Amino acid sequence: MTSTFEADFIVAGAGTAGCALASRIAGDGESRVLLLESGEDSASLRLRMPGAVLSLMGDPRYDWNYVSAPDASRRNRPVRWSAGRAVGGGSAINGLVFNRGLARDFDAWDAAGCTGWSAADVLPYFRRLERFDGPAGETRGREGPQSVEINRHACSSARLFLRACGESGIRVVEDINDFPPDGAGLTQTSTQGGWRMSTRESYLRPALRSGRVRLLTSSHAHRLLFEGRRCTGVRFRRGSEFFDAHAKRELIVTAGALSTPKLLLLSGLGPANALRPLGIPVVAHAPEVGANLQDHAGVAVSAAGDVDGIIRRDLGWPRSWMHGARWLLTGRGPAAGGAVLATAYACSDESARAPDVHLQFFAWHMRLDSDGKPGLGVEPGMTVICSVCQPHARGYLRLAGPDPLEPADMRLELLGSAHDLRTLVGGVRLARRLLAAPSMRAARVTELQPGPRGRSTAELEDYCRDHSGSQFHPAGTCRMGTDEDSVVDTTLRVRGAAGLRIADASIMPALTSANTNAPVLLIAEKAAELIRSADR
Ligand SMILES: Cc1cc2nc3c(=O)[nH]c(=O)nc-3n(C[C@H](O)[C@H](O)[C@H](O)COP(=O)(O)OP(=O)(O)OC[C@H]3O[C@@H](n4cnc5c(N)ncnc54)[C@H](O)[C@@H]3O)c2cc1C
Repeated sequence: MTSTFEADFIVAGAGTAGCALASRIAGDGESRVLLLESGEDSASLRLRMPGAVLSLMGDPRYDWNYVSAPDASRRNRPVRWSAGRAVGGGSAINGLVFNRGLARDFDAWDAAGCTGWSAADVLPYFRRLERFDGPAGETRGREGPQSVEINRHACSSARLFLRACGESGIRVVEDINDFPPDGAGLTQTSTQGGWRMSTRESYLRPALRSGRVRLLTSSHAHRLLFEGRRCTGVRFRRGSEFFDAHAKRELIVTAGALSTPKLLLLSGLGPANALRPLGIPVVAHAPEVGANLQDHAGVAVSAAGDVDGIIRRDLGWPRSWMHGARWLLTGRGPAAGGAVLATAYACSDESARAPDVHLQFFAWHMRLDSDGKPGLGVEPGMTVICSVCQPHARGYLRLAGPDPLEPADMRLELLGSAHDLRTLVGGVRLARRLLAAPSMRAARVTELQPGPRGRSTAELEDYCRDHSGSQFHPAGTCRMGTDEDSVVDTTLRVRGAAGLRIADASIMPALTSANTNAPVLLIAEKAAELIRSADR
């Protein structure tokens, strides 16, 4: 064992949050930060081209490919979670959608006791993190590190979808992230000039140049080190060698919602009665580490229609090369936008008092395979993916054994709650209404899936059970709260331990209503400020 590393702060996991946090901490001009990442640092063009997203999902070089236990609510199909395994984490392989979520998501966190996390409290951090090039508005930021653009491939089919939303009573807005409005609008993406801007690009690269952040890749954290209850560092593996790294001030875990709780459990922070039988010495009894696992289940409603801008399966190499070359030279075209062209928050039926479903519009006919992985369908067409904004289903993550390399035991019934299934069925009905709205009919758009055999509630429930999958937004496994069972307090400090915080998707008490990357950036920004202010 060689103990060669020491820094003021150690950040474990260089994903969406980790890269942003390390960069912000080092931004004080004094602190030295060691940033550990299990995956590689890759400069591959595939990681920069938005149109390559499907080729990244499932690729073991960049994707953890986590798998849950069989999910009884979906015919025992396990939940398959893609998750970024490279510098940039999820932001390096995700669908690039930049959605803050709804203001009331954060007001609900605040109402649940997370003081300091209301919509009004988080708005300055959202503004600080972004450099938005769309319409100017008071709620938007213009100078932050994360470049945000209106989707560069906002073609006629996206505008057709927005017209259909308007015809169906959904308000169409100019800026879908203008806190607090909901409604429907063109998608915004984490891109600059049509190139993906993961947090590797937006935050970390400038910070590495400053010399105050040291990045170690292929470095897998095995367990945290403690003196009593004070976290002093981390033991990690690089190749076949083990190293200890010591944090003079704090260690912050940012390994993502499916890895952070595992690292805590392996380190003796978790339910004592689950750790002792595995021979793991208990540092602090933390009953909810790994509990409260949640995700958005998504289901696709698709239609055939040959509208301008749609992407076809019969793409063939000449056309795909042409799209690639156009992206490289101009930063425009189908390869330059994220896959989701428009987005809407809407009510699943008349009884809903506020939007309870999130719809994402794709200009291609998507088929989800039995694992939930999207692929191009045969017909030229379009797809709306529906998901429940605030799912009620909760699962958990536990250790299967004491070996850090053994996959954890993860259980989540994505449609295990009657509320979620009912709402999702309402979302499917709404999506098919949109795809049959007057403008769509005029453009000769016709439904493909669920199709004629999906009319009754029972048939639509079956359709959801058979065809839904994860939206890759796992969260909540190290819940923030003020009660003693919560894992972190509202300053993101781990209860029962000193010198240790968590700052990633796992701290969310409840999911935000849409995609999670921008909310995770907010968490990292706020964590950096909390750390700085504790230091003063
Ligand atoms: C395919 C896909 C599509 C998505 N699409 C969108 C989208 O369009 N818009 C959106 O907003 N969100 C999207 N998301 C979700 C979003 O990317 C995640 O919510 C976000 O990246 C989570 O950030 P994080 O920092 O919590 O975790 P991550 O970004 O996953 O970072 C965790 C990092 O820690 C590393 N790590 C894990 N364990 C260890 C260990 N033991 N030691 C060292 N390092 C470790 C990982 O390799 C990873 O780099 C998508 C996610 C995926 C996977």
